[in-house]
Amino acid sequence: MNAPPQCLNMWYSCEPVRLDRARETLSAVIAEHADRLIERFYEVFLRHEAASPFLDHSLVVERLSPALHRWLLSLANFDPTQDLETFKERQVKMGEAHARMKIPVYLVLEGASLIKSDIAVILLSNHGNSEGAMAFVLLNEIVDYAMLLMSQAYVTGVTQRAKIEEAYRLFTLGQDVNVERESQRAALMEWSQSTIFGLLGSAGSAAPKPIATSEFGLWFRHRASIMFQGSLMLNSIDTAMKNIDEELLPTIGGLDALHGPEGPPLIASLQARVEEIKFLLSDLFQSLSASAGGRDPLTSTLSRKFLPSILGREIAMCQQHGTPLAVMMVDADHFKKVNDTWGHAAGDTVLRQIAEIIADNTRSADIVFRYGGEEFLVALVETELDGALEVAEKVRAAVDNTEITVVDGAPIRATVSIGVATHLGHPDYQHLIKAADQALYRAKNEGRNRVAAA
Ligand code: GH3
Ligand code: MG
Ligand code: MG
Repeated sequence: MNAPPQCLNMWYSCEPVRLDRARETLSAVIAEHADRLIERFYEVFLRHEAASPFLDHSLVVERLSPALHRWLLSLANFDPTQDLETFKERQVKMGEAHARMKIPVYLVLEGASLIKSDIAVILLSNHGNSEGAMAFVLLNEIVDYAMLLMSQAYVTGVTQRAKIEEAYRLFTLGQDVNVERESQRAALMEWSQSTIFGLLGSAGSAAPKPIATSEFGLWFRHRASIMFQGSLMLNSIDTAMKNIDEELLPTIGGLDALHGPEGPPLIASLQARVEEIKFLLSDLFQSLSASAGGRDPLTSTLSRKFLPSILGREIAMCQQHGTPLAVMMVDADHFKKVNDTWGHAAGDTVLRQIAEIIADNTRSADIVFRYGGEEFLVALVETELDGALEVAEKVRAAVDNTEITVVDGAPIRATVSIGVATHLGHPDYQHLIKAADQALYRAKNEGRNRVAAA
């Protein structure tokens, strides 16, 4: 058995009768005032500048209130001689959840202090100084112990994520860098040509597409920022893109005629900005070096170990910029039967083909993970539900219509079911995966080879 926690002094040194009385007092106060304590917690924290972004979503409130209620009761009934391990596990889980949601540990401590001081006021006013003080010391020990466990788990979670992020960065460096460089250079040129062509062809009519939301812009914001983390050239490219979207394009759009005296210099500035980005891009790629593994060897999709850090990061971006995010969970139908009928090697070929179809129907900024044996999870960046359903339907139909050729055998037909969910504001990425999973479950139940939305 583990040694008793150092910080629970009163538990292990107090006279049993006095300890029992203090426990009873504390437990009665918490049970009676829990609702009011939680209400006050929200009153304070919803107005709290740093905390409110984590709380101002109804889902969080709906889930957090009961969780906070359960936590308070677990403090009230805590007995380290009986249920120390359960108590520890619960605090560790909470610490890990805070880390996933990126809630700073100081806010958690602030919340705990608020609750402690509210309970202290009740204890001292309702139960006289001596009895109230005993119960408060007890509460103090328990809450501090809970905070100790929670912040340990929090730090572990954050450190692990930092390590995984670094691994992902190294891994992206190891990808076929030349192909990525060429395809992004092509995407940039395509945007610039179609924009300039469009502007010259019909000045003042259709608004040009911003570079930030072009194929190149999406790649830059979602992928390059990890691949080239820390590089100052990223800032330069970002500045050039902002200059294009926020100054040049609106100014050009406001001109009556591009063929007048102001037009050509503006178009020349736009071209110069694009050239600058192209130049910076080559430099960025040139600065790349080392590599590390990180793809699933069978399908070349991303290993799921990167999921927490990548989805966590995408969700943080959604919350910061108010952009949408969708997730597709793609699961091969009756895959056991595929293996049983045609053999495992044929099954592997089918999986590779499904991964290829997913890649063909998504953009370079979207992220495809091998989520399970015959399951893929796809993060569709800056995508609303309608767009995600369209992509899912394309993937479904493409798999359905593809004859998969296996060496020495007749062509195989396979189908997939897909669950789609969108980020509705919950800061924990697991919530999003769960929603996609539930939608997938429905697609399976409704007959497979179909798409369902959460
Ligand atoms: P459902 O339509 O309900 O999804 O049925 P299913 O048979 O696909 O689902 P189940 O989860 O029961 O079985 C999944 C099968 O996928 C079992 C497993 O042998 C197979 N599988 C998992 N990973 C691989 C792999 O890497 N290669 C091959 N060939 N098969 C795999
Ligand atoms: Mg499955
Ligand atoms: Mg399956």
